[in-house]
Parts: sequence; structure tokens; C-alpha cells
Amino acid sequence: MINICHQCGIYRADKEIDPSGPYAICPECGFKHPFLQLPLLIVSGASGSGKTTICQYLLERAAQAILLDSDILWRPEFNSPETKYRDFFETWLRVCKNISQSGRPVVLFGAGAGVPENLESCIERRYFSEIDYLALVCSDEILSERLQNRPAWRGTRRPAFIEEQKRFNQWFKDYHQQPVIELIDTTDEPMEKTAQQVLAWIEAKAENLKK
Ligand SMILES: [Zn+2]
Repeated sequence: MINICHQCGIYRADKEIDPSGPYAICPECGFKHPFLQLPLLIVSGASGSGKTTICQYLLERAAQAILLDSDILWRPEFNSPETKYRDFFETWLRVCKNISQSGRPVVLFGAGAGVPENLESCIERRYFSEIDYLALVCSDEILSERLQNRPAWRGTRRPAFIEEQKRFNQWFKDYHQQPVIELIDTTDEPMEKTAQQVLAWIEAKAENLKK
């Protein structure tokens, strides 16, 4: 709702942020729209890293945040590698911004959302105080085993797909830039233990909000 100005009614996603409110200032008429500028939490990792399972497991356990899987909004028209899926990520940031106006931060689980440049370059990025990144990684052997054990209809057993996911898994391990991506290695851990680590990470971020 923030994108539609309450004064002039014009839709603009590119409002200017005044941190003193914070306010989102309408570029058309100057109306100062007060809003909640919360952090956005991202839990990422390659396919087979366990993010979907962990998201499901934590749904009823992480009451201080709203957990969502980015796949739920995916549609073929978002499949535009030439724009780095910009429309998909702008849509997600807009959804998360609106959800977090109720006072709880969103934890978005997804592969592509874990690549910081996909989100940091979005127009909607300005409505978050920060984006915190966490990635689940594991050994190539375990990743490959998990993908091969999935039902055939999911298409994750194809060698090319497995190689692509191994490269993505390695990309997280090799990434040493800003913003930081924190890693949790799930290789030898039972799912519940990893889930507890992810929950502790979410709780620590939510706790910071109260300060
Ligand atoms: Zn306006």
C-alpha cells in the first residue's frame, strides 16, 4: 500500500526514504508516509541444501517472524535471466515490505534471493533497514545424494542439474564479499539440528529489532 500515495494517489515505488521517521516521501507531492523499516532475512542455498524442509519445519516454531518460500510466487513470466529475474525479486520485496508493516520481519527462503546483487539492486530494497543473508551449504557428495533421492518428476536427478547445484553450493562457500552471507554446513547434521541453528539466527535478528 505504501507505493500508492495517500495524498496524491500516484503509484511510485521509488520513494525517497527519510530515516528520521522513517518516512517514504512521495516524489510527486512530497507527502511523508510513515512506515516500518524492518530487516529482511534471507535463507538460501542450492537445491538439496535443505531450505524447503527447514522452512516447513520452522513454520510453527518461529513465531516472531513470517516465513515464506519464494517458490510460491514463481510463474513462467518471471523467467527472465537477461534481467536477472528483476521483476520476480521486485515483486518479492514489495510483498515482504507490505507484510512487515504488521511489525514482524519476513524470512524469505529461496535460492536466487541468496545472491545479494539480485536484491540489493532492486528499487524496493530501500524499504528495509538491512538484508541479512544466511546460506545452507553441504559437501558435493551429500548434495548430489539428496538430489538423486528426490522423486524423478522433480527433475533433480539430471546430471546437468546436479552439476549446476554443486557449482552454486560452492559459490556460497567461495563468496567473501559484502554484504556478508553467513553459512551453516548441513553435511553431517540431522535436519532438526540445522533447523535449530537457523531458528537461533532468526531469533537473534528479531531480538536486535527490540533494541
Ligand atoms: Zn503524492
